[in-house]
Amino acid sequence: MKNISGNISSIIDLINDPFGFSYDEISPILGEDDAKALYVRLYRGGLLKKPHTIWVQNIISATDAKKYLFELSDGKRIETVCIKRKTGVTACVSAQVGCPVQCIFCASGRPGHIRNLTASEIVQQIIFLREPINRIVFMGIGEPLYNYDSVLKSIHILRDRNGLDFPTDGITVSTVGPIKLLKQLREEHLKIQLTLSLHAATQEVRNYLIPGMKGNDINQTVEAALDYSRRHNRKLTVAYLVLPGINNAYTDARQLAAWFAQEKVMINLLEYNPTPQSTLKKPAKQEIERFKNHLERLGLETHIRVSHGNAIQAACGQLAGAIR
Ligand code: SF4
Repeated sequence: MKNISGNISSIIDLINDPFGFSYDEISPILGEDDAKALYVRLYRGGLLKKPHTIWVQNIISATDAKKYLFELSDGKRIETVCIKRKTGVTACVSAQVGCPVQCIFCASGRPGHIRNLTASEIVQQIIFLREPINRIVFMGIGEPLYNYDSVLKSIHILRDRNGLDFPTDGITVSTVGPIKLLKQLREEHLKIQLTLSLHAATQEVRNYLIPGMKGNDINQTVEAALDYSRRHNRKLTVAYLVLPGINNAYTDARQLAAWFAQEKVMINLLEYNPTPQSTLKKPAKQEIERFKNHLERLGLETHIRVSHGNAIQAACGQLAGAIR
């Protein structure tokens, strides 16, 4: 009797929220053949009206990006951005409503942590974008590793070959690097791309810029990220927001070289995208160039990342205006 009622409740959950189920969870409920058929219908355009728990409220377009505002079933809101590139469209997805880390340069953290998204809510952000997505980056609202289980489950669902079959190397998790969770990620059999949002070369500056990481030693954070990249044979991307007078001295460049010059690492220099209530200033192009030159002379592969979506408040650090 217990089994029958358990099965009925699983079937009801599946009908109401199918995007939260991995293929391995569906097949014991429906059997292999029906599970396969359902996955095809959900992920390969077989169902005209797909059951959903998030709704597109608004889409704002610019030439280089599109910002989707989604409403969740409890009325909370998140944003997802599609960035147009020469090689395709990148979806920048959210992992949380609000963010506990509260980086001083980012609007997403202002309200603090409101709640984690479910795996289903993460998957649906991809399914309901009306774009041909060829890269997924967890760089929207929230710290993905602080919603570890749902983020990993959503990745497993998105890459399942019975459904969307999204290539694993087209998925990037961008994290401020909580050490324990980086170590946990290293042990997964999942070769996703990793970006470490470092933004500082000293503990003091990192504590100031990323208050939520105060308890995480900067050297150990770097080591844990490098350890992931060595184990999975992935080039580590290090995101570094250039803030003149704060983190762009020659000594900062030397510290980055000490950590990364002998490793498979690409440094991505970012320019600050202004957000309301922040006193930080956007750097001049020359200031970013000067820091890039320091890093290159010290032997580091360095790029300046072109910011997309500024015109519609959709660039890095600007998301979240709509959270409620
Ligand atoms: S940059 Fe990322 S970790 Fe920091 S507050 Fe924004 S969303 Fe959170």
